[in-house]
Amino acid sequence: MRWRLPVVLFASVGTGGALVVNGVEPAAIPQPVAVTTASWEPVAARLRTTQHEVVPGETASEVLRAMGAPADALIGGAAGGLDRLSVGDVVQLDYEAGEDAPFRLRLDKGGPTVFALVRQGERYVPSRIPVPFHIETGAKTLTVTSSLWQAALDAGLRPSQIMNVAAIFEYDVDFNSELLPGATIQLAADTLTDDAGASRVGDIRGAKLTNGSKTYVQIRYRLADGTLGWFKPDGTGAHKTFLRSPLPFMNVTSGFSATGRYHPILKIRRPHLGVDFGAPMGTPVRAVADGVVSQAGPAGGHGNHVALQHAGPYATGYSHLSAILVRRGQTVHQGDIIGRVGMTGLATGPHLHYEFFVNGKYVNPLSVELPNNGSSELPEAEKADFFTVRDAVMAMIGG
Ligand SMILES: [Zn+2]
Repeated sequence: MRWRLPVVLFASVGTGGALVVNGVEPAAIPQPVAVTTASWEPVAARLRTTQHEVVPGETASEVLRAMGAPADALIGGAAGGLDRLSVGDVVQLDYEAGEDAPFRLRLDKGGPTVFALVRQGERYVPSRIPVPFHIETGAKTLTVTSSLWQAALDAGLRPSQIMNVAAIFEYDVDFNSELLPGATIQLAADTLTDDAGASRVGDIRGAKLTNGSKTYVQIRYRLADGTLGWFKPDGTGAHKTFLRSPLPFMNVTSGFSATGRYHPILKIRRPHLGVDFGAPMGTPVRAVADGVVSQAGPAGGHGNHVALQHAGPYATGYSHLSAILVRRGQTVHQGDIIGRVGMTGLATGPHLHYEFFVNGKYVNPLSVELPNNGSSELPEAEKADFFTVRDAVMAMIGG
């Protein structure tokens, strides 16, 4: 692959701010603050090039190590520049072995820009390279035959985008158990086409799910304060106090049983006071609601365990984690990644054991009636603007 574009440097060379690629609105493609004429080309011929598509659970260091990045690149900040990796991102490295040798990294999140990190002496300089895409917004239809995952892949969505689509409707439908054959999802999505005619799916602006006789519509809207949210056509928000599940896709391998089930390792019958979700090793585990970390560490048969105390009488527990990403006493927000799926403690394979407590008593997380006092409504002053966006999106997806 040849990169013919000039490198556009941001005024700030920290590793934080320049990485927000997915959130970029086509209407607001960032203007370069300072432009250098540096190009990738002069050194490209003698560099070793590797590419990698990020899979669930991978950390930036793991990705770089797997790609054979030189050790000093890991220490030198390349991993830090990748701290917002998402599943499906494509990372490309061009490098030579040796200190001060050319090293450059390209992170493609499928948006209108790619993130780049270039070694200049001892520093790793982050930059963002605009991709000269032609952007067109239109409708795309996903018909679920075997699975939502497959339907979305067939429509050209990347894994991270499929997770987003599932998240949009997760309050309405459980994609593992409630999706009927022939269900459709209509998306109003950007299609980005480059000079060579290659195209890909960009931002999703609205979605309509038709499941049997029921229809659900969600519109993406950026609030005046910059927050990006999903709203129903009437302007009410989808946000609820609790997520249905700590994992974006639920695959229940063992349900809740207050009376008892045969324990595969202990070989005795005993209650199963949580729900097991099968998931690949390393799958991110999300906090289901805002709360405070009341426990974070090894806990006997539970293995690496995180417990959260939420507002009111509610608490949740997450067990067998391969990694814990929070500390005791820390405040977490709904959706924050608190750990990764593993098989520490008493576990026969990677899975998440998820517990839900009301007033300190175990309850079935799949049937507990969840409080729904967190749904939000658009500020009155922003409604007119939202309705304009909504009407344009609805015209595409047939609301
Ligand atoms: Zn369990």
